Amino acid sequence: MEDDGSAELATVHSEIIACTKCELHKSRKNAVPGEGPTDAKVMFVGEGPGQNEDEQGRPFVGAAGKLLTELLGSIGLSRSDVFITNIVKCRPPNNRAPRKSEIETCNPYLISQIRLIKPQIVCALGSPAIATLLGEEYSATRVHGKPQVKENVTILPMYHPAAALYDASLKEVLASDFRILKELLEAKATLDKPVKDNDHDHAQGRQTLEKWV
Ligand code: URA
Repeated sequence: MEDDGSAELATVHSEIIACTKCELHKSRKNAVPGEGPTDAKVMFVGEGPGQNEDEQGRPFVGAAGKLLTELLGSIGLSRSDVFITNIVKCRPPNNRAPRKSEIETCNPYLISQIRLIKPQIVCALGSPAIATLLGEEYSATRVHGKPQVKENVTILPMYHPAAALYDASLKEVLASDFRILKELLEAKATLDKPVKDNDHDHAQGRQTLEKWV
């Protein structure tokens, strides 16, 4: 059998489901490891499961998830094309923000998911996900829509879709950052093709990536 990381990913997900490493396991109904194809080119990382996610054991199935699905559609992608997860895999009680210690305890699961899925682009949704993936000094306000490369992984910071449910002006900002995601994916796809003589597409793809990354 070809080793595409699926078996190891399934093992990581069963560890998450049985995890008792932090307090969050005590109040959860279901852990939410994340979902999507093992070979997804794009991974989305949110903050943590809310009530709907806790009940269903699936990420982004509430109102923020509906907007995420819409934004994906706006660039020709569907949920089944991408891998969706969170920085903490269990719901913080009453939807409080996850604590630093909880994020740190859960982080090895996210690192394993990124290592096994090897996405071309990781979209960090909201400041807690952005700070977890890039460092405390990064926030959505400062770096949204500006791709960053860290340890060979391209990370595209974005506002969290839930923020756009409260502040409608952020919806257009998110839509515009999704268009950057589309451009990055197209540039990477071009560069993945074999080079031809005087390859215009290749030069263009390289230029796009140099502009952003
Ligand atoms: N918000 C998140 O950050 N993650 C989810 O899974 C759902 C809502």
